[in-house]
Amino acid sequence: MEAISKLARADEIEAAAQSLALHVRRAKAFVVLTGAGMSTECGIPDFRSPGSPWLSNPPMPFDRFLASEEARREAWRRKFALDDHHRGALPGEGHRALARLVNEGVVETVITQNIDNMHQTAGVPADKVIELHGNGTYARCLECGRRHELALCRHMLEENNRAPRCEACGGIVKAATISFGQAMPQAEMQRAMLAAGNADLILAIGSSLLVYPAAGLPLVARGNGAVFLILNRGETGLDDEAYERFDVEAGPVLARLVSSLSQRVN
Ligand code: NAD
Repeated sequence: MEAISKLARADEIEAAAQSLALHVRRAKAFVVLTGAGMSTECGIPDFRSPGSPWLSNPPMPFDRFLASEEARREAWRRKFALDDHHRGALPGEGHRALARLVNEGVVETVITQNIDNMHQTAGVPADKVIELHGNGTYARCLECGRRHELALCRHMLEENNRAPRCEACGGIVKAATISFGQAMPQAEMQRAMLAAGNADLILAIGSSLLVYPAAGLPLVARGNGAVFLILNRGETGLDDEAYERFDVEAGPVLARLVSSLSQRVN
């Protein structure tokens, strides 16, 4: 029984990769939008799957974070609890495959909702990644914008029982992510709109496509004539809008896509 389901899974992966390869070979401007499902194979949990530690450490809304020192301490405590959950995580085969596609000029831009820096760690040049929700591997002062390292923020919290403050200006320091209720980063949104608008193929990977404005980008692309595809385990909010949808694990499909494209070239 197990052998049969393994075979069925291998067939699904192969079918999805071959179908994707057909679209990719035709494309001239291929853009990818990634979500938390891209990183689950590395042990970094997504937001909505049952048992996710995000549910026991829910993100603090921005207005509450600003409102009190106590809320900020709690936000930092939750952040470090989540970080500890996947400490030492490394990019998965999906990240590595995507990095190869970017470096070979097949993928133009990776737009990501993720905050884990995994695309860059896997080798995607920083200027090819657009981080719509920021980056959780460092912090910034909300006043002067100065970068702060997490180790020092943690020291302040755990040794002094204080939420970190900027030593340069005294401002509030926050993880460099975009919280619920916080304004989207303007430059990144503009770059993402441009990339989506110029794409002739957009592939959403590992995203429930429920969080806007990120989820609106495939529709911008499609409105400008792009083919919109989804590679996601389970349903998304835009299943009815996509040209084709592959309900499969992302990592193995992307790895197979890379080998399939290079077989054709060699
Ligand atoms: P989501 O949790 O809403 O959706 C993830 C989707 O990926 C789900 O549909 C899930 O079934 C699917 N999935 C999980 N593992 C998969 C796999 N191996 N292959 C294919 N599909 C898989 O995530 P979202 O749409 O990105 O929205 C959540 C928000 O939370 C994001 O805006 C993001 O900023 C934040 N977040 C980030 C991270 C991260 O940086 N890794 C992790 C959790 C949450």
